[in-house]
Amino acid sequence: MSETPFDPGRRQLLNLAAATFLLSVSRAGMAADDTQIVAVRVWPSSTYTRVTLETSDAIKFKQFTVTGPDRLVIDLEGVRLNGILKEINAQISSADPFIKTARAGQFNPDTVRLVLELKNAVRPQLFTLAPVAGFRNRLVIDLYPVAAQDDPLLSLLEDYNKGKLREPDVQTRPKTDRSRPILVMIDPGHGGEDPGATGPSGTHEKNVVLQIGHLLRDKINDSGKMRAFMTREDDVFIPLGVRVAKARKLNADLFISIHADAFLTPAARGASVFALSEQGATSTAARYLAKTQNDSDLIGGVKIATRDRYLAHTLFDLTQTATINDSLKLGRAVLGQVGNLNRLHKGRVEQAGFAVLKAPDIPSILVETAFISNPEEEQRLLDSDFQQKMAEAIFSGVRTYFAQGAPIANA
Ligand SMILES: [Zn+2]
Repeated sequence: MSETPFDPGRRQLLNLAAATFLLSVSRAGMAADDTQIVAVRVWPSSTYTRVTLETSDAIKFKQFTVTGPDRLVIDLEGVRLNGILKEINAQISSADPFIKTARAGQFNPDTVRLVLELKNAVRPQLFTLAPVAGFRNRLVIDLYPVAAQDDPLLSLLEDYNKGKLREPDVQTRPKTDRSRPILVMIDPGHGGEDPGATGPSGTHEKNVVLQIGHLLRDKINDSGKMRAFMTREDDVFIPLGVRVAKARKLNADLFISIHADAFLTPAARGASVFALSEQGATSTAARYLAKTQNDSDLIGGVKIATRDRYLAHTLFDLTQTATINDSLKLGRAVLGQVGNLNRLHKGRVEQAGFAVLKAPDIPSILVETAFISNPEEEQRLLDSDFQQKMAEAIFSGVRTYFAQGAPIANA
């Protein structure tokens, strides 16, 4: 849902003319037509730092970088400086990996200049998002490290879209044990700009599922036989396609996405487990949930939409069918354990077209731990004892699955 970034080329002359025009009309009392900055949010993380400017209308911008010291300069056109923008530096944490300071000033009557002083050179990605899910227009400023580091998010997504990551081959999934530990990719849903569902007391899904994810990671790593990795370690938005790409790059044996459910009425309750569907959703509720979860990229905001490489064909290949069968086995094992802790919303593993479950060769499930929209279950989700037990139940399900002789990925 991103617009074409502003092309500085020939348009500068036009803008000069437009600026002159706006200057004259604003002097005539038309300032109310200026685009307003309604909110500024800063999301520093180990992967990248995002600055979001929420605006009253679509915004035009120009950007350039300056060295010595490294700065990213963004000119916001048709915008007037207001208190929200003036206070931007208060939102910059000293621990931010990329931004040292931020300041904004009225550059000319029609333009606000935003200057981000940087700790290191960055690879900036700017894009706009149309209004969605309660958000107004947004200008997103993502700052990635220039040097390839442990987590080059964009190159991973690009490789994934080009099909550069390993291609599925059902023959490469031996049923024998081997020396390397079983690798589990834990995927706490949502993050950053995308809060997920919000409970009646204001609890955000993204926070409780991250806590449960950390607990599950520790249990897996403490077992000695498995190693856990996470698609996100902190409060950051990671696009759905990148979550899948991370699991494939790792050659993960399992992918477990952790969420908390929500419904329009507070009475809905219980845990559910989902797998990818080969032919449509198993219920209307599952289809609805998959649709809302797949909207995460729109809400979180991505510049490059992940192409749906693996559901483009009418028929799945054998690998995908085998993987879905394994996903259902894993789902049943986890459902059995989770059912001892929380009452189940549905007594069977449901299926639908979840984007995050589309790795063709990694058994993948999505666990809805409880209904955050139910006041009682919201409180349970906040309770550290419940979080521990939920992590333990998922881990027990994983162990049960492998004890049943499940295949593991080729090293
Ligand atoms: Zn969710």
